[in-house]
Amino acid sequence: MSTTAFESRLVSGEVRNVIVVLGDQLNRTSAAFDGFDPHRDVVWMAEVAEESTKVWVSKPRITVFLSAMRHFASELRADGLTVDYRLMGDTQNTGALGTELISAIQRHSPDGVVLVEPGEWQVRATLRAAVESTGSTLDERVDRHFLCSTDEFASHAEGRRSLLMESFYRAQRRKHNILMDGDAPAGGAWNFDSENRGAFPAAGPGLVPEPAQFVPDDITREVIGLVEGRFGGHPGSLEHFAWPVSRTDALTALHNFVAERLAEFGRWQDAMWTHEPWLYHSLVSSALNLKLLDPREVVAAVEAAWRAGLVPIEAAEGYIRQVIGWREYVRGIYWMKMPDYGDGNALDATEPLPDWYWTGETDLACLRDAIGQTLEHGYAHHIQRLMVTGLYAQLLGVNPRQVHEWYLAVYVDAVEWVELPNVLGMSQYADGGFMASKPYVATGKYIDRMSNHCGSCRFRPDRRVGEDACPFTTLYWDFLSRHEERFARHPRMALQVKNLGRISESDRVEIAERAAAIRRGEVGPIVGWAPSELRLEN
Ligand code: FAD
Repeated sequence: MSTTAFESRLVSGEVRNVIVVLGDQLNRTSAAFDGFDPHRDVVWMAEVAEESTKVWVSKPRITVFLSAMRHFASELRADGLTVDYRLMGDTQNTGALGTELISAIQRHSPDGVVLVEPGEWQVRATLRAAVESTGSTLDERVDRHFLCSTDEFASHAEGRRSLLMESFYRAQRRKHNILMDGDAPAGGAWNFDSENRGAFPAAGPGLVPEPAQFVPDDITREVIGLVEGRFGGHPGSLEHFAWPVSRTDALTALHNFVAERLAEFGRWQDAMWTHEPWLYHSLVSSALNLKLLDPREVVAAVEAAWRAGLVPIEAAEGYIRQVIGWREYVRGIYWMKMPDYGDGNALDATEPLPDWYWTGETDLACLRDAIGQTLEHGYAHHIQRLMVTGLYAQLLGVNPRQVHEWYLAVYVDAVEWVELPNVLGMSQYADGGFMASKPYVATGKYIDRMSNHCGSCRFRPDRRVGEDACPFTTLYWDFLSRHEERFARHPRMALQVKNLGRISESDRVEIAERAAAIRRGEVGPIVGWAPSELRLEN
């Protein structure tokens, strides 16, 4: 891409609008382009180092963002738009979004700046302040990518005693006529959740169709070189980089999923299997979050497959619930609760995140597998995030901010509006139950039921004390002990807490001692085990 210099055809002083396009706003249907005049408007995009360093962002995530931005800029230019694109390597690049925007405004002296709602509270604050400091005017537009605007979500929330995802989801289906037969839910029920919890038989998942893989093109290869050179010490590997980074790739990924794997998605949504990173998941979250895909086209493709009889209802409904339900719901919560949401720590968790979250060097087989694929691909599916890495951090009592920073860093689909509520609210219960009605806590037996990890693990999920006790199981009982008072009368936790009563006093002491040893790092990390692709360089 010829982005080495800004080749404006516009003479300074004649620019009407500077149109800001952020790294996760790569859609031509964006409101940013409403009324765009190629003779008077200029698109502004910037690669800034702070986006890769404010948390320790993994190499796959940096590459996805930069490559997708460069592809998008190059498509805009091919369509005749003028793009002022600040490359990371430009000598004058200050590395910060705010100062870069100020310098672009000074360069172009526009009448105004157009910005679509950013996906991160702090980015929005920074950009608003940058525009204000120049005396220019800001035209901030609604992000039409989402089916539910932040205002609409706020009205939905108003006056409700509890904000359940399910009622939001049903309202969305009705309003947008998705998977509906008249006034009734198609397929005879709103929710087929109970059919979405299958575990594979002992023989495993069998042959799972391979997802679409995207061989890096020239643009991506150039970005990979840049990332290795500049962020070589960051976590993760680029050896197998194959993510969609353009709209064409993203559509291929979507259609491949619908044709090859959607039919089995519903049944195996929660299942895990060693060395099977993808299973029947769609792998389109990064494409959706970059806005290379529109959620409407995603749900339309899925609904059409069901109406054509190609996939069962539990697959189509289960999938659509994630996209128009959970995805929109967490965004609504994020904007309702920011900027304080990130400070939540309802369970007073203060432990540091174990170092091996950044390397995968642990002898817990499930965590080794989930973290290993996370570093190798920038991906883990929902149950791995919630019930393996997230659960362990919660049981250990890790400070939620550190957990949040890890999730924001390592996944290719991580953008704060979706990451933060999932981590703080759903996985760590740090918002005190605003989002999840109870903490998602379980012993190692849950992981044993849903995967084959425990078969090859040195720990036993059914043991809570002793040398071979599964740390998840020990920490689960320790969690209930530590929070006994808090949850003893909680309507959805009381039963779990009551079970503590069946444990002898001596076992409770042993549980507390072993939990303390786990926190001291005496159980968990592997000494001397480090496959090369997981070894960090610094
Ligand atoms: P599939 O399993 O195929 O699901 C389909 C789509 O549904 C996803 O692409 C996604 O867009 C949407 N979706 C599913 N679950 C959720 C959810 N809980 N919240 C929002 N959207 C959902 N998702 C992100 O996009 N970015 C994140 O940073 C992120 N962080 C998470 C952190 C934790 C602790 C947890 C528990 C979940 C997180 N999720 C996040 C949600 C979910 O895990 C991912 O969207 C999903 O694993 C992406 O893989 P996929 O595209 O193969 O999804």
